[in-house]
Amino acid sequence: MTPTDLLADHFRVDKPHQAALKRLRISTVEDLLYHLPARYEDISDIQSVAGLALGQEAVVYGQLSCLKTRKAWKSKRPIAEGYIEDGSAKIKVMWFNQPYLAKMYSDGMYVKVAGKVTGKEGSPYIANPELEKLDSLPVDRHDSIFKGTGVEADDTLYPVYRESKGVTSKWLYHTVLKCFDKGVLERLHDPIPAAILERYNLPELATALVWIHSPKKAEHAESARKRFAFEEVFYIQVQSAQNRAAANAASTYSFKTEPTHIKSFTNRFPFALTGSQEKSICDILKDFAGSHAMSRLLEGDVGSGKTAVAATTAFAVATSRPPEGSGKAGGSLTDVDFGNLQVAYMAPTEILAKQHFESFIEYFHHLPINIGLITGSGCMKFPSKSDPTKPTKISKAQLLKWVKNGEIPILIGTHALIYKSVEFKHLAYVIIDEQHRFGTNQRKQLAKKDARMPHLLSMTATPIPRTLALTIYGDLDITLLDEMPAGRKPVKTEVIGPGQETAMYEHVRSELAAGRQAYVICPRIDEPDPAKQTALNLKSVKAEAEHLSKTEFKDYKIGILHGKMTPAEKDTAMNDFNEHKFDVLVATSVVEVGVNVPNATNIIIEGAERFGLSQLHQLRGRVIRGAHQPYCFAVTESKSEKTKERLGALSTAKNGFELAEHDLQFRGSGELYGGKQSGLSDLGMEAIRNLKLVEAARTEAQELVATYDTPDQFTQAHPLIAHKVAHLGEELHLE
Ligand code: ADP
Ligand code: MG
Repeated sequence: MTPTDLLADHFRVDKPHQAALKRLRISTVEDLLYHLPARYEDISDIQSVAGLALGQEAVVYGQLSCLKTRKAWKSKRPIAEGYIEDGSAKIKVMWFNQPYLAKMYSDGMYVKVAGKVTGKEGSPYIANPELEKLDSLPVDRHDSIFKGTGVEADDTLYPVYRESKGVTSKWLYHTVLKCFDKGVLERLHDPIPAAILERYNLPELATALVWIHSPKKAEHAESARKRFAFEEVFYIQVQSAQNRAAANAASTYSFKTEPTHIKSFTNRFPFALTGSQEKSICDILKDFAGSHAMSRLLEGDVGSGKTAVAATTAFAVATSRPPEGSGKAGGSLTDVDFGNLQVAYMAPTEILAKQHFESFIEYFHHLPINIGLITGSGCMKFPSKSDPTKPTKISKAQLLKWVKNGEIPILIGTHALIYKSVEFKHLAYVIIDEQHRFGTNQRKQLAKKDARMPHLLSMTATPIPRTLALTIYGDLDITLLDEMPAGRKPVKTEVIGPGQETAMYEHVRSELAAGRQAYVICPRIDEPDPAKQTALNLKSVKAEAEHLSKTEFKDYKIGILHGKMTPAEKDTAMNDFNEHKFDVLVATSVVEVGVNVPNATNIIIEGAERFGLSQLHQLRGRVIRGAHQPYCFAVTESKSEKTKERLGALSTAKNGFELAEHDLQFRGSGELYGGKQSGLSDLGMEAIRNLKLVEAARTEAQELVATYDTPDQFTQAHPLIAHKVAHLGEELHLE
């Protein structure tokens, strides 16, 4: 057996099975070996049903059967009951006063049951147990699963794999062991150079695979996970380093800008730049003057003033000359004598592209610099010939012609910007708004008519922790806008525990009475997962709107907004709210980003404990646009001190970055905003918690890439790494 063999060549794999494996992206033996356990169950916690004794706190895994509800004989209390069976025996489980439980579960489901064994000798039952639904049992403990692997029965870690309907964790586990038996480990080649593994004390591939799939000790599993986490981050870092090298190798536009020239632009702003804005502009101008194309990420909360940075640096570009060729050579620039380097500014949506176009008109209207807008639904140009204070509609052909001959130095648009038909004369600067992954290729494509690589500024309002940024934006230098403009009123945020709602509603009513508006955010319940609904008090948009209209906000008008409404319905709701046709908007957390209702200054977030801090921060970002003091209420039913403490960080943290770091440390990293789009596996996301590991992988990758003069040489020396890097991203967006 070799790693590249198809699984189907060695094992009986029927059609449904095959489909399930395909969903898990497993076709070869190697794919299977790299399908790593998601976690381990510790057998020492698990008891067998046969071994349970009265009075014992039991944790058993098994299958449910004979579920039903009935009324207690005397008290008429509703009772839900059934059996749990684990292969050794079965035992009754009973819940009193919770008849709905029987409806949320069904016969045949796999569950973990935890509760006290009560009843009489001979007829024991587990009373009011906690139930957790499982996709399958970890591995049937009554199989002698560890036979032949040399693992003692009291070494007790069961691997649990991510499954798909038709492929169980147990099957995956046994098949991995069979592959080991067939000698596949001897035929594996470790892509990671031995010297690197030694430096960080990481196990080599074959050992790591044994340790991760059938660990004898927890430390072994741990060490193996670290190796695979390193490996995943390493490939990404190799790719970043290669992208970076490609950008550095290409020639670019290099130009200096005088500080006084920049001042002439920024002095007109109706505000003073913040320190971070000044520093960002400075960083970018320095890059423009350097010999490599800039690759930079500008991260800053909503409202931190990214557009001003974009406009100022765009000004520097649009008033600079290409080094030779067209344009009058030499001489100093005055405000009527412009060079024609060009700027492309790409926004994720048409609405945002239009907004940027309008802000740029504000910033540039006093200058003879033409600004173009290109979106799917049409093109515009500022200024209009007939009325130089206004923009005008123009045909796409006309716009393209002016972009091509350099008469339009600043072009703003959506993705339409990178269509083949758009040609620039001297594209020197590309600005991307909101985390488009924008690679070397797209950048090249934009610059296609030109040998020079444009400078790239990527801007995002989603604060992400440093380790994640280093990983998913590893090829970019990072600048933080971590300072809010002076005079901004920070959102006053309060955590509202059980029983504290009265004062909150009173406050919000006083705000409504003063003419303000409010959001109420309810936890989304998209796919009701019965196992997770034991707390049945999750508030839903419709029910809460109904409830509030009869109670707390009965004197006010209420509207709703949620993900199941059509786009037209959503638009209407948002517009009506904006026009103050109603006072309170009850919505799910999917209230469109970018919607801006300055008069809405209050936000109540129900079930706040269910959100990450970054997400809560994004949600409260909705109320900071106005001139009035904004308020946020994070409502939680939880009595846990930990939850209160975590939510408390909303009031104490200085900015979104601090909150993102909190999320990373205190919640699963998978819940990080932006994490899901990053394309990292669960293990990779785990790795992100470890700054040392990420930095090590980055350093090693950079050094390895720098050892070779060309990508081809690298590929020849490290074909396995090159192969993995070439296939990065294929596993993105699973399911
Ligand atoms: P972002 O794009 O980062 O969300 P914007 O650039 O749209 O932020 O700026 C938000 C608002 O703040 C705009 O109205 C802008 O004019 C204003 N603004 C930007 N920088 C400053 C500053 N240094 N001081 C005061 N107001 C500022
Ligand atoms: Mg913005």
